[in-house]
Amino acid sequence: MRGSTLKTGKNTPVERFFGVGAKRAEAFHRMGIYTACDLVYHFPRAYEPRGNVKTTLDATDGEVCSLILTVNTEPKSAMIRRGMVITKVTAFDDFGKCGITFFNQPYVKDLMHRGSTFRFFGKVKREGFAVSMNSPVFEPYNGVTPLRPLVPVYPLTEGISQKLMGSTVRSALDMTFSEHDGLAEYLPAALRERYALCDIRTALQRIHRPDTIEDTAGAVQRLAFDELYLFALSMLLFGKNQPKRASHPCVRPDRARFLSALSYSLTEAQRRTIDGIEADMTGDTLMSRLVVGDVGSGKTVCAAYAVYTALENGLQAALMAPTEILARQHFAELSAFFGAMGYHTELLVGSMTPAAKRKVSASLAAGEADFVIGTHTLIEDSVCFANLGLAVIDEQHRFGAAQRSALAAKGKDVHMLSMSATPIPRTLAMVLSFDTDVSLIDEMPPGRQKVDTYLVDESYRERLNAFIRKNVDGGGQVYVVCPAVEEQEKLESESGDVLGRDELIPPGGAVEEKPKLKAAVDYAKALSETVFPDYRVAFIHGKLNGKAKDAIMRDFAAGNIDILVSTTVIEVGVNVPRATFMIVENAEFFGLSALHQLRGRVGRGEKKSYCVLVSDSKSEKAKERLRILCENSDGFRIAEKDLEMRGPGDFIEQSVGKTRQSGEFDLGIASSLRDSALFYAAFDEAKRTLAQDPGLASEENAALARMVAEKSGSSRPRT
Ligand code: ADP
Ligand code: MG
Repeated sequence: MRGSTLKTGKNTPVERFFGVGAKRAEAFHRMGIYTACDLVYHFPRAYEPRGNVKTTLDATDGEVCSLILTVNTEPKSAMIRRGMVITKVTAFDDFGKCGITFFNQPYVKDLMHRGSTFRFFGKVKREGFAVSMNSPVFEPYNGVTPLRPLVPVYPLTEGISQKLMGSTVRSALDMTFSEHDGLAEYLPAALRERYALCDIRTALQRIHRPDTIEDTAGAVQRLAFDELYLFALSMLLFGKNQPKRASHPCVRPDRARFLSALSYSLTEAQRRTIDGIEADMTGDTLMSRLVVGDVGSGKTVCAAYAVYTALENGLQAALMAPTEILARQHFAELSAFFGAMGYHTELLVGSMTPAAKRKVSASLAAGEADFVIGTHTLIEDSVCFANLGLAVIDEQHRFGAAQRSALAAKGKDVHMLSMSATPIPRTLAMVLSFDTDVSLIDEMPPGRQKVDTYLVDESYRERLNAFIRKNVDGGGQVYVVCPAVEEQEKLESESGDVLGRDELIPPGGAVEEKPKLKAAVDYAKALSETVFPDYRVAFIHGKLNGKAKDAIMRDFAAGNIDILVSTTVIEVGVNVPRATFMIVENAEFFGLSALHQLRGRVGRGEKKSYCVLVSDSKSEKAKERLRILCENSDGFRIAEKDLEMRGPGDFIEQSVGKTRQSGEFDLGIASSLRDSALFYAAFDEAKRTLAQDPGLASEENAALARMVAEKSGSSRPRT
């Protein structure tokens, strides 16, 4: 049936693409990609200049270029040590020959035969007359079909190779340009003219298939403008917009009683935040407030005060967290806290049985439960409240605007409080405060440990292992974090036309000789079997389901695991006070904010805690970035310095893709416009558009309205 009767178009689900089965579809979903349209909005983070074609005569040592070579020996593989297979082949052009070595790519043997010609792209090594390349990317070359001069490099996730991403995006481009259900221009013509923006199809074509780097510049302008403009529209449409009147303002609760139930006294910043919350909830318009504070700054207790205010006024409250682990952790703390005050709290998460969920729903609908803590499950249709008066969203950037308002829509007059640990630089603050009041918690609770942070290279491995031992023997627990990319993905054998290499080009670094990413699976195995057979080592990764991840995290929190190896970012907000040491492998592959958040998982208890960033990157820029982290412990400072270093013009080297996984607040492609006139114009124009057509109801804005709805996540699940 496939493809024969079903027409394809912009809404074709990713499952229907060639080479994408259920498992890979899941990986795409993890990146927020569900349809052809999502795919074409998944932008490259760099381009490989494969059009830079040299010969064995003129390629210089260290040059990153393409060589067009004909293979003249059958490839030979050899195991050089456990877990390392090298495959060697010799190839030549009119001027000489070139030795090519592949590491752990044994499938090369099946793809490359004597007499066949390829374009090899990578770094050339020249020693005297000998020319060689290590693990180049290669594509068949027939001298007739032109090869792309620039090949996009996409952000990936575990289970998706560069090659699969590239071919899937290319098919998606065709689909979104189809006559039948194609992507229509949605920006008002007047706007496009005013800012000289190219049309959407040209922009998408040029960002994914540019002939020159200059091509991408116009595309970036258009797409960056779109991102901000659509974001602003969605905020205005789904956000607070006009402050809503509260039909029954809350009365001020007994604050002293709340404070005396705490085991510590609040910081000044927390007091200010609570003042703001109280003023909002007792005022005559509904609260719409965002609490921003660094990891560990104590946002939860501020949210608890909002909950307390609601409950004391006879209203129900709901708290939505992005993961089950986090929801359960909040539940453990807050249900006890409010239980002592005589209130009844329930938990509602996806992994509960249907019967258990129904029971919670019924008790909320009947008004028996006062407070519910949960995940996305809270916004399912079956969940109703008797009298919901407050919605709290933890880690708000992990939810779409539509999801946040879906929770608020479960009551008549609902106060909204969101929390975020994401440090927001100035422009981003402006974006966020567009329709919200912001409370900044810029002060840490007293006695908080500074996590000493070091940057080291592979030569420190022995000492690192010794330090792990020392920590565990002293009663501590250790996190080991690896980037989520698998070393070998056997996609190549499925269709052997254009070969890509599973790799990431680190920002600022050209193609490295070999992506020395630690394969997390092998690494975890080695740690548990060889290095630390006497310790309890567990491994948590993206392919485990939520329940399994939860179980491991709970085990870790309970102290039943000494060393936790993790590929996925360890859940934001998780609190394990006994964790005293974190190692981040290949640290150069993480964003600084993500690293800062990660580091916030340690240093939560009494004991001195440490974080070691391991990186073998040769790039000075990459190392300089990481040093920012060693020298600063304030998330806001780190975000600022990160921005300074990156600068707006850095598009080609810089990640422009969506990295929803990393936990970083993601401005995506719009970050290239940071602080430019176009950046602010996008916001003004959004206001102007809505002033002329409130609700985007007019016929001429129909395509725009659809796009806004889609972008704000109202039409698809987010997991
Ligand atoms: P985050 O802002 O990252 O969500 P939490 O609200 O989870 O941080 O707080 C982190 C830890 O700090 C919790 O264990 C909490 O009990 C504690 N804490 C919060 N406020 C204070 C304070 N004023 N004094 C001491 N400890 C505090
Ligand atoms: Mg928190």
